[in-house]
Amino acid sequence: MSWTDRQRAMLEAMGLKVWVSPTAADTPMTASTPERAAPTTAAPAVSARVAAPTPAIDSDVAVAAEPRRPVAPPTPARAVPAEPAPAPRPMADVLAKALPSAMPIQAPTAAPAHAVGAGLSRDAIAALDWTGLRDTVAGCRACGLCESRQHTVFGVGNERAHWMIVGEAPGEQEDAQGEPFVGAAGKLLDNMLRSLGLSREDGPPERQVYIANTLKCRPPRNRNPEPGELAQCEPYLQRQIELIQPRVILAMGRFAVQQLLQSQEAIGRLRGRVHRYQGVPLIVTYHPAYLLRNLPEKAKSWEDLCLAWQTVEAAP
Ligand code: SF4
Repeated sequence: MSWTDRQRAMLEAMGLKVWVSPTAADTPMTASTPERAAPTTAAPAVSARVAAPTPAIDSDVAVAAEPRRPVAPPTPARAVPAEPAPAPRPMADVLAKALPSAMPIQAPTAAPAHAVGAGLSRDAIAALDWTGLRDTVAGCRACGLCESRQHTVFGVGNERAHWMIVGEAPGEQEDAQGEPFVGAAGKLLDNMLRSLGLSREDGPPERQVYIANTLKCRPPRNRNPEPGELAQCEPYLQRQIELIQPRVILAMGRFAVQQLLQSQEAIGRLRGRVHRYQGVPLIVTYHPAYLLRNLPEKAKSWEDLCLAWQTVEAAP
């Protein structure tokens, strides 16, 4: 039984070893022969043959036994210079040659980058400047929250501020005004910041805060954000933090904390120590809206602000 070059290539590509008779092309093999025929110094036959699966032959290929035929006397050996071994070919190359042309081999392609934001990839968002980022968020329709929003809520404050505050999602008034932390919770936050000499208004960077939310659009009826919405919006916040390079981040509220720290732990277990978000010190604290409903927790929130202050002061 003889094999064409194409068949041999396909068998090799499948990991099957083809034994090539060292005798001349027209030298027959007897499949039932229990031992390998004595090797001669003849050049390898052009038409290769596969040995039967006898124990004495190192072959993984099982071939039906051929009927015994008289063995012709071997042709006198003729010295033939050994051919250099062919260079190994890539698997796709081998298969492309072995398989019919009706089965083309497709080269593997890289997985497309996950599209987020307004049709932009995470990498594209990471390259935006302030203007590009603001415009992209204003036109974003990457999640369902775009359907019910009045305004996107991008952020306010000095873009070189040393302090950054990250809240959760816009409420009704934020959605109406397009600004984060307005209304009663915003007033409480401003008062807390003022007690430390900080403000969202104009001033030197070390006395200023930049305020942004994890989500830029309001969830309907102030429902909890969904994981998919947070994931879609996260590259915008990440880019804001990269552009600001704050000395400290104050993460306020459960969803801001969970998103930035990728943790499901309760705020009570995470506060009181310094975490890191992409190298920036991060302090966990309660959301001002929560403090309005739980006044005794204000003391803890003040402790968190003091820890943030110490962290900034200790920074080089
Ligand atoms: S919440 Fe974020 S991701 Fe969703 S539409 Fe608004 S800006 Fe886009």
